[in-house]
Amino acid sequence: MNAEIIAVGSELLLGQIVNTNARFLSQQLAELGIDVYFHTVVGDNSNRLKSAIDIAEQRSKIIIFTGGLGPTKDDLTKETIARHLGKRLVMDDAALAGIELYFNRTNRVMTENNRKQALILEGSQVLPNDHGMAPGMVLNKDEHIYMLLPGPPKEMEPMFLQYGSKVLSAVVGPNYKLVSRVLRFFGIGEAALETEIIDLIDTQNNPTIAPLAGEGEVTLRLTAKHSDEAVAVSMLNDMEEKIKQRVGRFLYGYNNSSLLEELTKLLKEKKLTITAAESLTGGLFQQEITSISGAGAIFKGGIVCYANEIKQHILQVRQETLENHGAVSEQCAQELSENAARIFGTDIGISFTGVAGPDELEGKPVGTVYIGISIKGRPTNVEKITLGGSRAANRERAVKFGCYFLIRNLRESQNAE
Ligand code: ATP
Ligand code: MG
Repeated sequence: MNAEIIAVGSELLLGQIVNTNARFLSQQLAELGIDVYFHTVVGDNSNRLKSAIDIAEQRSKIIIFTGGLGPTKDDLTKETIARHLGKRLVMDDAALAGIELYFNRTNRVMTENNRKQALILEGSQVLPNDHGMAPGMVLNKDEHIYMLLPGPPKEMEPMFLQYGSKVLSAVVGPNYKLVSRVLRFFGIGEAALETEIIDLIDTQNNPTIAPLAGEGEVTLRLTAKHSDEAVAVSMLNDMEEKIKQRVGRFLYGYNNSSLLEELTKLLKEKKLTITAAESLTGGLFQQEITSISGAGAIFKGGIVCYANEIKQHILQVRQETLENHGAVSEQCAQELSENAARIFGTDIGISFTGVAGPDELEGKPVGTVYIGISIKGRPTNVEKITLGGSRAANRERAVKFGCYFLIRNLRESQNAE
């Protein structure tokens, strides 16, 4: 069962309003288990609307229209569909009574063109408009289902939820359940992730697997359909297990979570405190961690150690380290994280030192970053990464990597226990 949404309105094409109706309806249809294959937008023009309908009928079973049901001249959705399907427009007494009532209630005088709104496609089922005047309608003809909804979201959304969705769920089967889960990955690119699971993607059917990349992260949305919700959930679990066997080490969270949220959650659970010594990130890590409410339980404070003399005199990095290896080095990152944790008396110290760009430093190329992670009772880990972005992107990416490495270290130490 597939659907197409045709939004009618020149203001959409002019960029004056955003097509939120298509977004709303797509989300609703996904929950009903109806695949939306196309969104179409067409202006208030009868000929172009007709050609959009011609195309939609060739590729979609359910065609949902929004907009153009009002009383004015540019509202021509109903008229165009009526002509196209060879149907008459007939007065619907219940809809007319509803409009008259609306005018009485609001103390306004009804004009002749308002009567036009009570005209419906002959043989269609009316969808009452509880928040406005123009009724919606549904018509079955020649293998297609045509649903007409008003443009204003305040009328369209409740109409669909109250009446429209019931009509469609009766068509697709009432007990159909759709369950989704988003897996969030970090530290692996979209292409590399896809290569690892390409056979699963190629043979996907139920559950479906949809990859999405953005902000240095990749997500996979898994969606399973079944009449029994518990079965759909176990189908998701099975697929997640298969994916985890290949790329589980890059999986850090689910659904709307973020690296920072996962990290603070873990630290709270384990009742661990943290400090940071930040060179290239200039306090960005500390800014982000304090943006989470309740950060006081885990974060004590930290130091921005941009200049070498601060690294040496406040964070007690040895002079030989700076002379022999430089500030951008594994050794420096290690001392920074260990010393910060000791000075601040925290369970964890994290350090960031590197070359943000645009110029290289100590002969080390732009994007070279060392992240030190000291967790009480465990040997310090220093991770080296090489970033390729702008100065701002490198700083932000470094913080994300820091969160990610720390999550991984904490989970590994948990598994080792
Ligand atoms: P009305 O009776 O208000 O004229 P209508 O069914 O004729 O309703 P339109 O005239 O097409 O609908 O649009 C009315 C208003 O609804 C628009 O000005 C806009 O604010 C909103 N609207 C229309 N289409 C959309 C859409 N696709 N997404 C979001 N808002 C929309
Ligand atoms: Mg209108």
